[in-house]
Amino acid sequence: MGRITLENRDLSARARQLFEKALVWDDHGCMPLRADDDSFLPQLERYQRAGVDIISLNVGFDAVPWENTVLVLAHFRRWIRQHPDEYLLIEHIDDIDRVRREGKLRVMFDIEGGCALNGQLSMVEFYYDLGVRWMLFAYNRNNALGGGCQDDDSGLTAFGRQVLEEMARVGMVTCCSHIGHRTAMEIIERTSNPVIFSHSNPRALRDHPRNIRDEAIRACAGTGGVIAINGIGNFLGHNDDRTETIVRHIDYVSQLVGADHVGLGLDYVFDQQELADFLKNHPEIYPPEQYPGGMKMVRPEQIPEIAESLLQLGYRDDDLRKILGENHLRIAQQVWKQ
Ligand SMILES: [Zn+2]
Repeated sequence: MGRITLENRDLSARARQLFEKALVWDDHGCMPLRADDDSFLPQLERYQRAGVDIISLNVGFDAVPWENTVLVLAHFRRWIRQHPDEYLLIEHIDDIDRVRREGKLRVMFDIEGGCALNGQLSMVEFYYDLGVRWMLFAYNRNNALGGGCQDDDSGLTAFGRQVLEEMARVGMVTCCSHIGHRTAMEIIERTSNPVIFSHSNPRALRDHPRNIRDEAIRACAGTGGVIAINGIGNFLGHNDDRTETIVRHIDYVSQLVGADHVGLGLDYVFDQQELADFLKNHPEIYPPEQYPGGMKMVRPEQIPEIAESLLQLGYRDDDLRKILGENHLRIAQQVWKQ
């Protein structure tokens, strides 16, 4: 794989061989949500050097105005297109494999919360056409679509049900991270598509409102979906960003529902100051006792070590390939309309 230079030179030959050939897909990464700032975007190279093939970049969440989401999307798309030797905008399912041998990082987008629709159903297809491949309904707090995980979740609304149908029609994947348990179970009940938790961890290993119950993990797997494990230290443990800890979360979900239903969604935040400001300015979204400052997080560079650790735990090559990316690919092939 031409351009990829794995930083971790200590990988075993088996891990290196498997990792370099595997499709590696991180379902959630966070660049600053500022349409006038491209100072962090060159750091996308870090994914590439860590061997990642596909990254889903967040373009907005419920705490920023919907207009900002559109502006950030325009900004990211232009910047990626201006760097065609390194990056490719994913516009079609065939783009997943097309430039694989050239080692380009392929980029898609995601939206955390239905406020980005501004109450207008047709915005779903608008975003899909611009490369947004998954969306979650409510970010921690209730909104017009459904309930959040840091709120008294009142369930899926009538508008939420319409959005769910529209997403299936246009091919956008439904994500159940950040929403409340009741809303997640109601979505899973209603949909005939596989759903994902794009960046959520088992509450059995770390009791935090952002983490999900075994019942939700089983229900997601029952749709044929994927639970992608989050790398935020506060959701893994008590500000714990060690590889062995995220591997424990991956292994827990894998033991519970099988390796066909586990993936990676590291949620790595590049601009730590922006995160600190969001936490400080929105205590209603991030109750301070549950979201302490100075959060550690698993870095993209740890992904090869994660693969190595899973092999050491006895994972078979084919199961590891599924976890690293093939499960996400399966969902895309089932849900995307192009
Ligand atoms: Zn998130």
